[in-house]
Amino acid sequence: MNELIGRVFSFESHVFPNQSALYNRLASDGQSPKALMISCADSRVVPEHIMQADPGDLFVCRNAGNIVPPFATQNGGVSSTVEFAVVALGVRDIIVCGHSDCGAMKALVHDELLSPMPNVAAWLRHSHAAQQVTRDSYPADLSDAEKIRAVTLENIVVQLSHLRTHPSVASGIARGEIALHGWFVDIHAGQILGLDGETGRFVALREGVSLPVALPHARRLAAEAPYVQAAE
Ligand SMILES: [Zn+2]
Repeated sequence: MNELIGRVFSFESHVFPNQSALYNRLASDGQSPKALMISCADSRVVPEHIMQADPGDLFVCRNAGNIVPPFATQNGGVSSTVEFAVVALGVRDIIVCGHSDCGAMKALVHDELLSPMPNVAAWLRHSHAAQQVTRDSYPADLSDAEKIRAVTLENIVVQLSHLRTHPSVASGIARGEIALHGWFVDIHAGQILGLDGETGRFVALREGVSLPVALPHARRLAAEAPYVQAAE
């Protein structure tokens, strides 16, 4: 038997019995995860591992390129997962998490890689804004690695903007109940960068320093009083 597949018996015989109290509580009380993380499907980027999360802590959606299609373009798994997390579970923090050495982001820099993968090519259309920002606004003489890093960070920014097109997310942001986070995992250095929404730059997450947040919890209503006062 495949050695990895065989480890499931270890879960049944060792892991579950040691955490039976936690699983019993989650089974009887239901889940109330503390955050939604949308990350790449890359096997080296494991949200629960990075967050040191236990079962029940984190609602996770993973796909190639940590992409969130804009609301109106696709009624798919990501849109439904986001809506369920926000409406049914009341998640207050959403993290879009990209990473170094990302195959999807490499394909945005080297289009020729996509010719045998038409579905990946179509999926990555949701990242074309990041591709064009990188082409138009970064120096032309960047190294390959620098281009891939740039498009990866810009892609996180683009997917965060797509999140805001989802009505449930937009409404939660307006009420001040949802904050957005953009993270980048450097799998070579074991370091996480976070998008600072005020500067638009990614900075290292450091213990003891305030966490960089892409869009903090804050009530945002576009109209002036009396609408705002009436709602408070
Ligand atoms: Zn990736």
